[in-house]
Amino acid sequence: MRHFPAFHDLRDRVVLVVGDTTAAERRRQLVSAAGARVRVRLAGLVDPGDFVGAALAFAATGDEVADHRVALAARQAGVPINVADRPAQCDFILPAIVNRDPMIVAISSGGASPTLATLLRAEIEAILPAGLGRLARAAEALRDRVAAALPASADRRAFWRRWLRGANGGLALSADRSEIQARTDAALRVGPSIGIAHIVGAGPGDPDLLTLRALRCLQEADVILHDHLVPPAILDRARREAERIAVGKRKNAPGWRQADIERELVARVKRGQIVVRLKSGDPFVFGRGGEEVDALRREGLPWTVVPGVTAALGCAAAVGIPLTDRRHASSVTLLSGHGAGVGAADGWPASFAPDQTLVVYMGASEAASVRDRMLARGLAAATPVAIVESGTRAGQRLSTGTLADLPRLAAPHVARGGAGPTLIVVGAVASLAGAEPRYAPAEEVA
Ligand code: SAH
Repeated sequence: MRHFPAFHDLRDRVVLVVGDTTAAERRRQLVSAAGARVRVRLAGLVDPGDFVGAALAFAATGDEVADHRVALAARQAGVPINVADRPAQCDFILPAIVNRDPMIVAISSGGASPTLATLLRAEIEAILPAGLGRLARAAEALRDRVAAALPASADRRAFWRRWLRGANGGLALSADRSEIQARTDAALRVGPSIGIAHIVGAGPGDPDLLTLRALRCLQEADVILHDHLVPPAILDRARREAERIAVGKRKNAPGWRQADIERELVARVKRGQIVVRLKSGDPFVFGRGGEEVDALRREGLPWTVVPGVTAALGCAAAVGIPLTDRRHASSVTLLSGHGAGVGAADGWPASFAPDQTLVVYMGASEAASVRDRMLARGLAAATPVAIVESGTRAGQRLSTGTLADLPRLAAPHVARGGAGPTLIVVGAVASLAGAEPRYAPAEEVA
């Protein structure tokens, strides 16, 4: 390690910046933001007195000889110097910075590859919540109370770990301060256990389609209650130590009942755990997320909902169906294929029009009933349909045809051993479906 990382307190200290280039201006802004009193000089007008009392000096004149002269003078005056773009002449170098004041991440490649440092900065920038600074300030405002309530430092550490990762940390990123303070006081009375449930949409299967917030929840989780539709590639993104429980409700197979899932969710949060209820697609689209939120609400427990890319959107994108393409359709309706046969109360609208796009979840195994109910509601037998199995996933398959033919088209997607989840799109836009192009991950592009 050639450069020692340290954070320098520059409040009310004098910093000398020499030059009138863009680099000089950038340095002037940076140190001003840190509270320094900046002394700016032009290249030819520096005199030894300018270094007196300076904590740091920057040379960014754009001229090699002038820069070198400033560096020598700084060294003579014993003031640490940074020369823009000339690492060999620097006493200290500037890191790439991710700023969530007061949280600061500084990245250095030791001059080896500033571009690599910048790339890494972009990655970290994307991961860190925008409200991280608020979170730190909220914790700062509570420090004295917590110190008074928990004199033992090990207790305090445990408290803060839970507080920052748990309900209050989540709230501090978005909510107002007085509510956080009230909750923290309540938490201090009961001890360091504050749980929360995050009802999280995992998207249609491709891990790249997780939201940043979903990823964050997965990395904070103590326990993950997941559907069987959530693939291992997504569970792999979770915190390694997180307990994983498959609570899938499989058709015609014993499994967890909805009431069991809700009971487990509530019990875990009460125990103080950070619980992620991970559901395929979006939790509020044919996901029973609403019932789970109700169960938590009834108990007065904290929860959040993290939306996900629902199967209709994921599959449509994967096969190139513009769901509301204005040349063909004026609306899109999401339907569940489950329900009774023709004429029974299945919750569908009374009639369908040719300019409507219909997306049927859980419909492949009842394709004949889906077709009959659509014909009975006014759709033509020749209406285009597309069937997408395992949309956005490795085994993605597409079949296209007409509504009349739906049962025959759907049969292979149902019968195949280990067939994946299957979605049906009905309407003029379905004729635009094609298997390509698929999104190629960056490392495959090369
Ligand atoms: N909450 C989920 C839907 C759950 S219901 C969402 O918003 O997507 C389960 C049904 O979703 C499956 O029977 C299937 O119809 C559909 N589905 C989920 N993922 C899918 C995928 N990757 N490809 C095709 N259909 C999918």
